[in-house]
Amino acid sequence: MNRKNIVAGNWKMNKDYQGGMELISEAVNMIRDERNTDTIAIFATPFIHLSSVSQLIKEEPGIYTAAQNCHQEESGAYTGEISAAMIRSVGASYVIIGHSERRNYFHEDHELLRKKVQQALKHDLIPIFCIGETLEERNAGSHFEVITKQLNESLCHLSPDEFSKIVLAYEPVWAIGTGLTASPEQAQEIHAFIRKEITARFGDLIAAQTSILYGGSCNPQNAASLFSQPDIDGGLIGGASLQSRDFTNIVTAFNPIRK
Ligand code: PEP
Repeated sequence: MNRKNIVAGNWKMNKDYQGGMELISEAVNMIRDERNTDTIAIFATPFIHLSSVSQLIKEEPGIYTAAQNCHQEESGAYTGEISAAMIRSVGASYVIIGHSERRNYFHEDHELLRKKVQQALKHDLIPIFCIGETLEERNAGSHFEVITKQLNESLCHLSPDEFSKIVLAYEPVWAIGTGLTASPEQAQEIHAFIRKEITARFGDLIAAQTSILYGGSCNPQNAASLFSQPDIDGGLIGGASLQSRDFTNIVTAFNPIRK
């Protein structure tokens, strides 16, 4: 079985309800008309859109919804929080876990992220697990160590069967929302390294089947050259996912690529 090519748009805290519904309608129409591969498109919307967007895409092949976060506990007195079971109950299939904005602004550490991954898997949500180094770490030459540590701390306790459900996103923190993109060669170097690390822990087959997405100022201009790298299986897209034309052009960047 080949690994899947995936383009996931992370809307972050953008779009009111009406604006989000307009964006999703436009993007779905364009993707339906223009995508000629089995590339999966995912919309990671704010929680308030998730139920309606999941309904809207229910019958669309290869289009799914994701939450941008979930709580680590099953249920209970956690005012303002949303559980993995709730997310699944409205029809979402994926959840982003470990985004650098959550690690940074909300102080999410590896212990917490492990619990979130466990909750997601328990409720049949596919985690899109984000890893990546800061600019200081890259300048210090410690980016490979950082990646290994992030994988070890939050994912390596999983069974091979559990790990095989995970989608990884390599997102160098210095490239997120900054307009700086890792070059295709820089990104490929890390993606190949990540796949090697997965091989060491979970074996060749699982490593070959794990989708590893690139995230960090990916846009319609650079998507095709990033996605043509052998170990880059798609993208996690922030800013460019807020424009239906740009997001569709990133999804269709796979159209002419044959791996
Ligand atoms: C992100 O936040 O995951 C991201 C990649 O953002 P941007 O595309 O805006 O850099």
